[in-house]
Amino acid sequence: MNIILLGPPGAGKGTQAQRLVDRHGMRQLSTGDMLRAAVKAETPVGLQAKAVMERGELVSDEIVSALIDAELTALGASAGVIFDGYPRTVAQAESLDAILASHDRSLDYVVELDVDEDALVERITGRFSCATCGKGYHDKFEQPAQPGTCDKCGGHDFKRRPDDNEETVRTRMAEYRAKTAPILPFYEARGIVRRIDGMADIDAVTASLESIVAGAPV
Ligand code: AMP
Repeated sequence: MNIILLGPPGAGKGTQAQRLVDRHGMRQLSTGDMLRAAVKAETPVGLQAKAVMERGELVSDEIVSALIDAELTALGASAGVIFDGYPRTVAQAESLDAILASHDRSLDYVVELDVDEDALVERITGRFSCATCGKGYHDKFEQPAQPGTCDKCGGHDFKRRPDDNEETVRTRMAEYRAKTAPILPFYEARGIVRRIDGMADIDAVTASLESIVAGAPV
């Protein structure tokens, strides 16, 4: 099973992907996470991507498609994959077709999380996560039960993404509208797009996603 989660920054792609990973043993392939790891490790890709990411612009199609291809090679054939934050341009969608074919995989669904952009800015600028285990929190919507201590692992260090400030978020939204939204017709023509109300409660979004996944061949 291979699905793409599509939606602007802050739509909840990462949160929902993580739930599918926990419940179904699928693998989440997030180009954003891969790029952040590359930036942290100061690899050549990371050095190239850092400033682009800080501005909220898109990293080159060649870089992200090569990252996805390498991850699929490392993964082997068994696990289902959730693409989170990839593809983000029509060129990436075309590359993904070729990459999937070369790995004997095909796409089952493209799930679009439908969201209200203004609400997203509040969602994104308030989010932070545990530096140890990665559990996500929010200043307004989900504080740790005990302030300063992670609910999941008990860690005390928290971090924020450098690109989660309002100015960069607005650029990321504009990039989504201009370059990513146009890939929907590409998949609509194949009849594999499904839409979910991404403004609904997190559990309701998961339930909708589960019913879509249940319809896909395993
Ligand atoms: P994300 O974590 O998905 O919000 O991605 C964070 C940043 O990484 C984006 O704002 C882009 O700068 C870069 N990025 C992640 N995925 C892609 C992609 N598929 N294509 C181009 N840039 C990407």
